[in-house]
Order: sequence, then structure tokens, then C-alpha cells
Amino acid sequence: MISYNDPDRMPDPALDERLARWFRDRYGMQRIYLTTSCSAALEMAADILDVGPGDEVILPSYTYVTTALAFVKRGATPVFAEIEADTCVMDLADVARKITPRTRVIVPVHYAGISVDMDALLSLTRGTSIRIVEDAAQALDARYKGRALGTIGDIGTFSFHHTKNLSTGEGGMLVLNDPALARRADVAFEKGTDRQAFISGEVDHYSWVDRGGSYGMASPLKSLLLEELKNLDEIQEKRRRWFQLYMETLQGAPLGLPRIPKYAEPNWHIFAVRLASQAQRDVVIRRMRERGIQTVFHYQPLHRSAYGRRKGYDRTPLPVTDTVAATLLRLPLYPSLEEEQIRQIAGALRKSLEETP
Ligand SMILES: *Cc1c(COP(=O)(O)O)cnc(C)c1O
Repeated sequence: MISYNDPDRMPDPALDERLARWFRDRYGMQRIYLTTSCSAALEMAADILDVGPGDEVILPSYTYVTTALAFVKRGATPVFAEIEADTCVMDLADVARKITPRTRVIVPVHYAGISVDMDALLSLTRGTSIRIVEDAAQALDARYKGRALGTIGDIGTFSFHHTKNLSTGEGGMLVLNDPALARRADVAFEKGTDRQAFISGEVDHYSWVDRGGSYGMASPLKSLLLEELKNLDEIQEKRRRWFQLYMETLQGAPLGLPRIPKYAEPNWHIFAVRLASQAQRDVVIRRMRERGIQTVFHYQPLHRSAYGRRKGYDRTPLPVTDTVAATLLRLPLYPSLEEEQIRQIAGALRKSLEETP
């Protein structure tokens, strides 16, 4: 038969199967959707859960814009929870205080690949209809009590952006953990149509059935992803070594080192320390730059952003978030660094700290 579409241009289903198998074998992920980004995966999650006006979504303020925007775009109200200073992930006592009858979704962000205490979070939502969407953008290959992050909530979302541990330039993934949501997820992924039911022969044509988007990753990036995954163990091993070398060489320095809770096996995504004040951090960044080393701060809390202030989100006090945002400093952490460079950076940081008032 002469096919209607050019067969040379059709995506290869075997590629999807190989990727699905890889993620299933390594992490136990049962159903994945490769997306254009983690932001797209978060928007798809909001579609799947039909979040809308009147719904509240609890998330940290100390996160990337799209953790909130994916839900805000659909008219939901973000409710910002506090973080813990030493892990930089959501403070569950504050989450518990912020749950109301309107709470539809809670979004734990596994900052730096360090897990939120998922059992404690799930115990807050047990017996309710509140859904959990793990923003695991930074958490590929990280675990909680042995379970892969992104597989514990109803939905998990990942990023393959060039700043993350594993990259396709831009890219992402949605992991669906509640099989009851599969059909809705297929529709959201297929641009609001039942094309997936058509492909599997359940319907004889496909059409518009619900909300959705153009979320799918392009085939060339899938091929790239499959290649990149072969490097994952090597990448992770290097990152682990550099992270631990920072911990050793900065032991006893006048700064706050990251705390890794017992239940968390991180993926060494970010090495961040906390300094005494914003003024001290500004001086340290300058002194480090003079020594030829770039160090950076991280998020402006969303409740303090221009949009957040316009919407009045800054009326909720989040003092720990404000302090972390003002004092957190990230050091270079990537596989191609060398042991000598890590020692040099740690030494320069100690010297720079001595030079601050
Ligand atoms: C990187 C990141 C995102 C966005 O990922 P993209 O793939 O760039 O869309 C979302 N949330 C968090 C916590 C991130 O770190």
C-alpha cells in the first residue's frame, strides 16, 4: 500500500518503546510522556487534573516560575509554602497549615535533587482528593527511601534542559503514576484529541474531546536522549565526587552546608551554601569573581516577583524563604571539573569569607 504520509518522516515507535523500557527498568516508571520541557509537563499535569478557577495549589515560593505558572495559567490560585533553610525543600508543617477545602494539588519541588519527605507529605493528603505533582525537574536519578523521585506522587515531571544533570538542550518528561489518569493524560498529550484511542483501534476516527496541548518531544531529541542516558552513570559519579569533596573541604568553614536527610539519595544537582547575610554574599560573589570563579545566587521567590507583588502574593510572610533567597550561594558543579579546581574553589571561598566584615 502507498501510505498517505511520507514514511521517511514518520517517528519510529521503537524509539519510544526503548525509552519507555529504559525508564521502567531503571526507575520503575510505568508510563512516561516525553515532552518539550518540564514546564510543558507541568502544564500537561494541570490539564490532566483539570485544575481551574477556585482551586488552590500549594507549592514553594522558592522555585522556578513554571512550577506556579502551569497552574496559574488555568486560573488556579497559588498558595506559597515555606521551605526549610538547610534542605531548601518545602516545610511540611507549613504545608499542613495551608491546606483548605479548596486545595486541589500540592507540588513538592525536590530542590537540588534533595527529596521532600514524601511519606510525611502523603500522610497529610491521605483520605482527601488532593493530588500530588512532584516537580522533579532537578531530580532525575534521585531517590526517596530507595524509590525514584517522580514516581511517588500521582504525577512526576522532569527537565532535560541544558542546566540539568542530563540534557537534550530543551526537553522534559511527565511520569504518570496513577493508571486511572491514563486516558485523560493521553488526550492532554495528543492536543486534546482521542488520537491515542484511534491508534489502538478503540475508535474509528479521532477528534477534539478535551483540553490539551502540543507537549510532545520531537524524534531527533528522543534519539539524543537515548544516547545521553548512556552517560548518566558517569555524569552522576563525577557529580557525587565533586559534591562530597566540597563537603569535606568546606567542613568547619563559617557557612551553612547543605543537609541531606537520611531518607534522601540526591542526584548532586546543585551545591549551594548559605552565608550570614545578603551583604556578605554580595561581597563573596565579587571576591570570587576577582579570583576567576563564578558563583551565583538562585531564585527570586515567586511571591516577591513583579507578578507576585501585583497579585498580592507577597502579603503572605515567608521569612525563611526570604532569608534563603538572600543568602544562598551556588558553587560550580559539573562533571568536567577537576579535583584541583574543586579544591581551588573551596580555598577561594574560605579566603573570600575571611575578607568580609
Ligand atoms: C528547570 C526547572 C523547571 C523548568 O524546566 P524546563 O525543562 O526548563 O521547562 C521547572 N521547575 C524546576 C524546579 C526547575 O528547576
